[in-house]
Amino acid sequence: MTDVLRVEGLSTRFFTEQGQVNAVEDVSFTIESGEVFGVVGESGSGKSVTALSIVDLVENPGKVTDGEIWYRHPELAERAREAYDEEAVDGEYVDLLQLPERERRALRGPDFGMIFQDPMSSLNPSVSVGEQIAEAVEVQRRAEANPRATRSRTQGYGLGSLFTDALLPTKSYVSEESRSRAIELLDLVGIPDPEERYDEYPHQFSGGMLQRAMVAQALAGEPDVLIADEPTTALDVTIQAQILDLLSELQEERGMSVMLITHNLGVIARMADRVGVMYAGEIAERGTLADVFEENVHPYTKGLLGSIPDLDDPAPRLNPIEGNVPSLLDSEMGGGCYFADRCPKAMEECLEKPPEFACEDGSDEHAAKCYLADHEYDEATALPDDYFTGDSDE
Ligand code: SF4
Repeated sequence: MTDVLRVEGLSTRFFTEQGQVNAVEDVSFTIESGEVFGVVGESGSGKSVTALSIVDLVENPGKVTDGEIWYRHPELAERAREAYDEEAVDGEYVDLLQLPERERRALRGPDFGMIFQDPMSSLNPSVSVGEQIAEAVEVQRRAEANPRATRSRTQGYGLGSLFTDALLPTKSYVSEESRSRAIELLDLVGIPDPEERYDEYPHQFSGGMLQRAMVAQALAGEPDVLIADEPTTALDVTIQAQILDLLSELQEERGMSVMLITHNLGVIARMADRVGVMYAGEIAERGTLADVFEENVHPYTKGLLGSIPDLDDPAPRLNPIEGNVPSLLDSEMGGGCYFADRCPKAMEECLEKPPEFACEDGSDEHAAKCYLADHEYDEATALPDDYFTGDSDE
């Protein structure tokens, strides 16, 4: 299969008053055409910032400081070869990080669709759900007619449009065609009576229906890559299952690639073809679903899997990973493996310098950022249990 996206050595930092926060550190992975790439990890592991870095939505004081994001787009590559630096192009791929903001913004919608965790805060409460979807369709339509105009009305779609809207307040921003397409999309994502519901506001939709509306909005531009960031977290289990089924159906029908971000390994097991496990801003382990679930190497992956309740053999107590996610403040990050203080297999060498991936290029080979990926656990050099807590009896 062809890679649609190759992320190589991506680092994103936040420059706060407290100091530099290394939210994403040297992250590499690929997403193939038509596959679901799952990104899993605890809160604060850098999953969402990775996604935001891809679509150029990292807000101040954050900044992508390093890396390359190669996106397959033959037409854009052709154009970029002439308009920008030669180094921004590699065959049919273009490095998104070397494109101007205008070009990157234009990719949101037709190339990259996004579904966020909380539809209530993503949709405008004072505009009907249908109109918000129609607006996404309209933006796409206008952008195709005029590639320079790519902003929605709420983003300030050109001075001309603002002026017209101000002079003609009753004139709808969206065309009849866009309205019809929005109704089709509402129907496609399983919203009953889509024509009537078009005019309803977000507060009139249930959580599940709102999430379906978010999916419809993300599909408005017919994207090649759908980034779904915790798309089912706020929903109850039954609705979660419905939304996941819907995403699966749409992904298969349209041959879309999906980057699915979640902290829920059950969602990953159900949806993903390949997986990246993130910890402290890094990919700790990546591989196929079978690699990560059955042949895992990294103690963090093992810990995540071990903390899932087994319904066939219920344990009296859950088995959580002890400790907390480390601070990502540069000044507080140690020099060794970031997982060492929670790792049951930590050895002396783990404190000396961070382990590296055997394959750095983000390919689909199974790899883990752990010394145990290339040699056996050495009990003779194991750190004592109380090494980090100092809870010694002596
Ligand atoms: S490198 Fe060492 S501390 Fe880090 S996860 Fe592997 S065994 Fe544990």
